[in-house]
Amino acid sequence: MKELGNIRPFEEKLWLSSPTMHGDELRYVTEAYETNWLSTVGENIDALERGVAEYVGCRHAVALSCGTASLHLAVKLAGERLYGMARPNEGTLRGHKVFCSDMTFDATVNPVAYEDGEAVFIDTERNTWNMDPAALERAFALYPEVRLIVAAHLYGTPARIAEIRRIADSHGALIVEDAAESLGAMYDGRQTGTFGDYNAISFNGNKIITGSSGGMFLTDSRADADKVRKWSTQSREAAPWYQHEEIGYNYRMSNVIAGLVRGQLPHLPEHIAQKKAIYERYREGLADLPIEMNPFDGERSEPNYWLSCLLIREEAMSPMVRGERDFLYQSVPGRSCPQEILDMLAAIRAEGRPVWKPMHMQPIYRMNAFVTVEGNGRGQSNAYIAGTEEQDVGSDIFRRGLCLPSDNKMTPEQQSRVIEVIHRSFA
Ligand SMILES: *Cc1c(COP(=O)(O)O)cnc(C)c1O
Repeated sequence: MKELGNIRPFEEKLWLSSPTMHGDELRYVTEAYETNWLSTVGENIDALERGVAEYVGCRHAVALSCGTASLHLAVKLAGERLYGMARPNEGTLRGHKVFCSDMTFDATVNPVAYEDGEAVFIDTERNTWNMDPAALERAFALYPEVRLIVAAHLYGTPARIAEIRRIADSHGALIVEDAAESLGAMYDGRQTGTFGDYNAISFNGNKIITGSSGGMFLTDSRADADKVRKWSTQSREAAPWYQHEEIGYNYRMSNVIAGLVRGQLPHLPEHIAQKKAIYERYREGLADLPIEMNPFDGERSEPNYWLSCLLIREEAMSPMVRGERDFLYQSVPGRSCPQEILDMLAAIRAEGRPVWKPMHMQPIYRMNAFVTVEGNGRGQSNAYIAGTEEQDVGSDIFRRGLCLPSDNKMTPEQQSRVIEVIHRSFA
């Protein structure tokens, strides 16, 4: 890596995205403690469910233990509606393919496997870093029998969800919307997490508001909300004893966690404003470098700016190779690469991260089908055939992109230091 010169490391580590608390959280948690409502029932859960439903504009919100649990039950509901009740101990998607976002966190797609379905990954578009509607259309030409789409909004930037909805409708398919990273983001003036037939959000420790953990299932359907509530509490039937007629899960949110999230919720708009300011400072501070920021459709969408990312232009990339767990790069004057920038950030105790490695490149999903727009990805996506049509979009963004420290508590002074380090990486 290049010289840091006189740039000092931070006294305390600067995080990618850490919890930001305000005080009300503690009040609600203390209330739960003092009134002894310490299980999965209580005022915090009720108030949080009402509050989130009102904020995003849906009829029902069901508080669950995490976003992954919400996605699991969403996918299970979709499977039942599409393919009927599964036999006991059999996933609802057994034998069925599901179109999934490719550049996302694996929690988006694992629930498809939990339900015995087979994920088919859809390549990414350059202008939102999300599911490419053109690749989705092509996937329906290849697999016309598919009836379910799982689509995520990466880093808080809305996917072209209205277009994805139009394509889904024209093929009679349902959508599970993964808004885990995009709470508060809008598309066409509407909140993400309301476009899917089934929707999930997350309150994981690094998300824009957090309960340390937690998630929610969002819907307008009373029946679906009731079903998720029942499944999430071990599918207990209304009988004097523990009576079970369906497989159940222990997925309900605790009233203590709900207290944390309840206290965070009123601060969501403020967190979004802070994240947006961070994104804009990076855009201005890095404008003279051969990079681009993670893009969004400014006409139709308003991101929540959860993570700021950059993409190095091809001509400014220095040689870098990645194995499954390690990497190697050459430090070249006037150029840089994500691993060099990450090394330099780590040297000043700032946390960056590579862009989420696409699902089709993950060993666990490497045998699954992967659909790109025509002409792309004919070469091996791991071969890094830089700058050619041979490479799919997802692996190209993974190769050239990285996530920058985006903590809401980062001061402009701290951010200037990060910006300075990125400049030096191109020295
Ligand atoms: C965080 C995340 C999830 C999972 O949420 P958890 O609450 O951690 O289970 C799902 N999808 C995406 C895209 C995420 O970033």
